[in-house]
Amino acid sequence: MSILHTRRFSSWARGHLLCRTDDATDRFALTFDDGPNPRATGAILDVLARHGARGTFFMLGGNIGRYGDLVRRVASEGHEPAIHGRTHWPLPLLLPGGIRAQVIRCADQIEAVTGVRPRFYRPPFGFMSPGQARFVRALGYEPVLGDVYPEDPHRPGTSRIVRRVLPRLRSGSILILHDGSPSGPADRSQTVEALEIILAEAARRGWRGTTVSDLLQRAGGPAWHGGCSRDAAGDQGCADAHAPTQRSPS
Ligand SMILES: [Zn+2]
Repeated sequence: MSILHTRRFSSWARGHLLCRTDDATDRFALTFDDGPNPRATGAILDVLARHGARGTFFMLGGNIGRYGDLVRRVASEGHEPAIHGRTHWPLPLLLPGGIRAQVIRCADQIEAVTGVRPRFYRPPFGFMSPGQARFVRALGYEPVLGDVYPEDPHRPGTSRIVRRVLPRLRSGSILILHDGSPSGPADRSQTVEALEIILAEAARRGWRGTTVSDLLQRAGGPAWHGGCSRDAAGDQGCADAHAPTQRSPS
């Protein structure tokens, strides 16, 4: 079992990382990690366009360098590029100078391509200590996790991804999906197919997928801090909403 999926971590993570909001009634945030990826990011953007949805894309430096056209497309179609790191190194292995380099260099790359400084950061594997979160905030970036994660990069099957998401998704949720991979172009066809189904069901519930920025704006400012909450479905914390196979977000 990963530390990310223990109740202790879940409770601890709520206190210092953004996991969800509680006061957005008609929307949830769509987030995509590890891209851009020429095998999937374009298809995901096509699905989002068909549904009038937007998303936040937590990108890796290597992929930003290789696929600048996709970074530009993400930004030009109204989505939000965000920082996942220059590489996919886990934060516990880094000293403050290393964390600073991971965050700042990735932000520099995004700004160089899009002209916009990113605002949000998601740590690789979803892990960072409270001190590291304070450090990243002091650099000017807000750490973000999420409350629904269906382990889509492990390709469990489209229907299983959908079944892991829909019972847990709520207005105010931050859904973690993957358009890319730290190891280069990857098959994310199950994620693309699941996204289509998830957005159709969300529309039936009266919700739309949006960016983290938009979700927070609707939630009315700083009250969202530590917004992971226990809810009717049980003990749903940061990134542990997918208990079946106990793997870490990547
Ligand atoms: Zn990742």
